[in-house]
Amino acid sequence: MGIIVQKFGGTSVGSVERIQNVANRVIQEVSRGNQVVVVVSAMGKTTDELVSLATQLSKNPSKREMDMLLTTGEQISISLLAMALQAQGQQAVSLTGWQAGIKTEAIHGNARIVDIDNTRMLELLNAGNVVIVAGFQGIASEAEITTLGRGGSDTTAVAIAAALQADKCDIYTDVTGVFTTDPRYVKSARKLHSVSYDEMLELANLGAGVLHPRAVEFAKNYAIPLEVRSSMEIENGTRVEEEVSMENNLVVRGIAFDKEITRVTVIGVTNGLHSLSTIFTTLAKNGINVDIIIQSMTSANTTNISFSIQTVDLDETLAVLAANKENLGFESIEHESGLAKVSIVGSGMISNPGVAAEMFEVLAANEIQVKMVSTSEIKVSTVVEDVYMLKAVEALHAAFKLEANVEQTV
Ligand code: ADP
Ligand code: ASP
Ligand code: MG
Repeated sequence: MGIIVQKFGGTSVGSVERIQNVANRVIQEVSRGNQVVVVVSAMGKTTDELVSLATQLSKNPSKREMDMLLTTGEQISISLLAMALQAQGQQAVSLTGWQAGIKTEAIHGNARIVDIDNTRMLELLNAGNVVIVAGFQGIASEAEITTLGRGGSDTTAVAIAAALQADKCDIYTDVTGVFTTDPRYVKSARKLHSVSYDEMLELANLGAGVLHPRAVEFAKNYAIPLEVRSSMEIENGTRVEEEVSMENNLVVRGIAFDKEITRVTVIGVTNGLHSLSTIFTTLAKNGINVDIIIQSMTSANTTNISFSIQTVDLDETLAVLAANKENLGFESIEHESGLAKVSIVGSGMISNPGVAAEMFEVLAANEIQVKMVSTSEIKVSTVVEDVYMLKAVEALHAAFKLEANVEQTV
């Protein structure tokens, strides 16, 4: 007998019938002789609806009250699932994040889990209960309720799996696994049998919303076997694991994309050696996440510094730069919104030079201009105009033969 953590996302608990379906899947796992912890998200689009209520009342609602509000969504689904299980004769107890012992940093809206006290979950499991835990929430010191960032229920599940030394963590969702790219947008996307932690971490960070990036980080750090699978279909999903077998070791395994990117250019920076550190320290202190950075010298011996940010952060970025103009020593600022990031990811790139060149060729052949580039050992990211985003993804998906490859024969 082992401990299994199952996580069901919003669509999977979106109605009474679906909660019933989740209850059946939980009972199946129990009947295999396992102790089961279930993590659930808020029903359907509840979290979006709660956000919309808040913004109708306030342009800039307090982050503390947002957490208080958003955590109610998960509290609905945990109690309903407990009732559905109890109605079938299965002992079950629902717990909010704090009741489950999930401690986080004292940051509202995007807190990291710092510790999980597993005592209560273990007691309940050992007394024969299915334990149902509210996803995406925890408690900081000073008894403040926090949330882990949108999509954070995945992280709750994997962190609990680590804290309970579970045998496995299954992420049940509305697709049958991790695909070569988002199947909702690209019809030829194909389900992967497996993907390595590192590849999945890049894909998740670069916009593949199927897993919360911090969930993958936890899974890698604690070597938790993870499987992404469908809550509706009975079929094997995608394993996320340390090493993926050689046959499957494609050069490019997946393509991620992310809209709402803005490029900001700081022109005529004069304070020499320290210009980069001053600008990015100032932005970091204000909680602004900067992605790709490009620095270029001008003939007048000043520097231009371009960087990409999420478009939602634009107003704050411009305000922070303007407030520090004297200290930073620049002439002017330009920005371009309406951009998107398209990235190819694969561990096979380490030993295959020329993948970036091939990507640029494909984009050029499709008359898509690349505005910014960044690379790591296992990824190449490009920033393009967002109107060309899907065209770029489809062209790359075809060029790197992601639709049909050796994996299908394995
Ligand atoms: P949940 O509510 O179950 O957490 P999410 O909406 O967060 O579900 O994640 C599932 C969605 O992720 C899918 O419906 C799909 O559109 C999207 N997605 C993005 N990239 C991928 C990918 N590479 N493979 C599978 N799904 C992806
Ligand atoms: N309900 C939260 C959200 O919509 C958390 C999650 O679904 O993982 O972001
Ligand atoms: Mg999700």
